[in-house]
Amino acid sequence: MSTKDYDPKQVAVLSEEKLAEFVAQALAAFAAAGDLDELKQARLGHAGDRSPLALANREIGALPPAAKADAGKRVGKARGQVNKALATRQAELEAERDERVLIEESVDVTLPVDRRPAGARHPISTISERIADVFVAMGWEVAEGPEVEADWYNFDALNFGPDHPARQMQDTFFANPADSNLVLRTHTSPVQARTLLDREPPIYIVCPGKVFRTDELDATHTPVFHQIEGLAVDKGLTMANLRGTLDHFVSEMFGQGTVTRLRPNFFPFTEPSAELDLRCFVCEGKDANCRACKGTGWIEWGGCGMVNPNVLRNCGLDPEVYSGFAFGVGVERALMFRNGVEDMRDMVEGDVRFSLHYGMEA
Ligand SMILES: [Zn+2]
Repeated sequence: MSTKDYDPKQVAVLSEEKLAEFVAQALAAFAAAGDLDELKQARLGHAGDRSPLALANREIGALPPAAKADAGKRVGKARGQVNKALATRQAELEAERDERVLIEESVDVTLPVDRRPAGARHPISTISERIADVFVAMGWEVAEGPEVEADWYNFDALNFGPDHPARQMQDTFFANPADSNLVLRTHTSPVQARTLLDREPPIYIVCPGKVFRTDELDATHTPVFHQIEGLAVDKGLTMANLRGTLDHFVSEMFGQGTVTRLRPNFFPFTEPSAELDLRCFVCEGKDANCRACKGTGWIEWGGCGMVNPNVLRNCGLDPEVYSGFAFGVGVERALMFRNGVEDMRDMVEGDVRFSLHYGMEA
């Protein structure tokens, strides 16, 4: 059979009926598409390069010239119908989507605002960070240690003798079983020992954290409270460096001109040791009946001293080469006399009304 007498009707996919069927299938698929993603799939199947109409179009090239024009018209008309239906459905679905977005993303400005309170940071956290900031500004580093601590770090390394009263059950929480030799740290000082063992001097660290004692909760005691510990170990440090550091610290916390006093005391891990007292903020030492200082004119804040050479030795440092000073202050106590909190229970009850009036001091 030559191409001259070729009958285009013999090419089934180019027949009037077959083309009408392809168009009907395409229109049904577009109408069934529920959103733009589904319409995209329908377009690929019915108007894409591999669609029945596109494949039929390719057959035209093989037809004899006389038959090409006729077949081309038929296929062109069918493709035109499909493309028009596709464009119409595309427009409909886009309009639907736009309308949905308008509804879903609209804001009703007449609705009442969210009246749930935003909460507040606890003043213990805020003041701890403020204290740490004073030291970071001097180039010190913040160090941390575990709250469940080996008793060696909590006591032995810090020169507490085996019979020291602090090791007794009435002061210290011991972890079970007894032979685990673990305690809830009674002070932040074990971080001193950990740091000394870990690092070479010069060492300048502050360590804020929770500590634990077997006290009943009352207005002036809580079994869980916060300390900030400071430790400096370097060549040639003296009590004068300790005094200067504490004076700077105190004036940053309580204002320039706050008067301090070091009062001799004893701690196993410092020698010599002292209590750090602050001039009473309320009476400035002028009222014998002052409640804040009980008439003494001074408020006790924390302990300090030169690091005991035994502690340096326990941690592998030569006390002939290095010396250091250390101090620890109570964060709750600072809040009590800095911000006039009279009852420690207010700090542990978690009532947001207590925290709120401290604001968001950064
Ligand atoms: Zn006073």
